[in-house]
Amino acid sequence: MQRGVASTTLLTVLGFFKDRHRKRLKARPFPNEWLKIIKARVAFFIRLAATDQAELLDHTQILLAEKNFEGCAGQEISDEIRVTIAAQACLLLLHRKTDYFPRLLTILVYPSTFLASEQRPITAEIWEEGKHARLGETARTMGSMVLAWDAVKSGAADPSDGKNVVLHEFAHQLDYENFAADGTPALATRKQQLAWREVMRTEFASLRAAEVTGIPTLLDTYGATNAAEFFAVSTEAFFERPVMLRAQHPRLYAELQQYFRQDPVEFSAERTRQNL
Ligand SMILES: [Zn+2]
Repeated sequence: MQRGVASTTLLTVLGFFKDRHRKRLKARPFPNEWLKIIKARVAFFIRLAATDQAELLDHTQILLAEKNFEGCAGQEISDEIRVTIAAQACLLLLHRKTDYFPRLLTILVYPSTFLASEQRPITAEIWEEGKHARLGETARTMGSMVLAWDAVKSGAADPSDGKNVVLHEFAHQLDYENFAADGTPALATRKQQLAWREVMRTEFASLRAAEVTGIPTLLDTYGATNAAEFFAVSTEAFFERPVMLRAQHPRLYAELQQYFRQDPVEFSAERTRQNL
């Protein structure tokens, strides 16, 4: 009992210092060099509302202060790499109370598509991205994420091709916030959880069926791998192909809109018959 009270008090104190440190980071002016990088590299940024741009920059300062970046296979880590990754990841955090991907400590960056070791144990906790050549990888118990810099750059440059490895891998991290890799992020109420599970189950089953029969789909059929990949792939489509996703999968779009508290149709660069 006493120990329980003591540890709760300790968590409250730690939380207080963490919040205070984050407030101080947000109060710092955003470095102009970083803003130049975002404007040059992250295509969606200039399409966001001014208030969302400001919020995204605040989040980016905090994420960059709290996460380690390490280069692999000869890749040097530069501000360009750190900022391009962090700014994209922070799109997932807008409008919500967030703890900044708390299970993630380190981001490992390879120059290009990397080969995963065949010796690596593949368990329920480790998710493969592709077969052996991968653009990105993360797992609930890894504490790290691996990204290919060329895939990060191409994903950031085209905001409406439906592919964004940063959004995909960081969506997995959101999934882990409630300590499971089950395609269901932390949702506020039981009612929301039930609605989410019902919609995701139905949509996942239909993607699976489409993959088996070879019917073309808006969602990448990699999402048919399992519920966790379905959430990551759906997140990419939500931010990159929102007009089509809303038209073809209105219930899926509505669930994602409620969770992310955003309507990407408003800032989408997507070109379709509907908005040409
Ligand atoms: Zn994945």
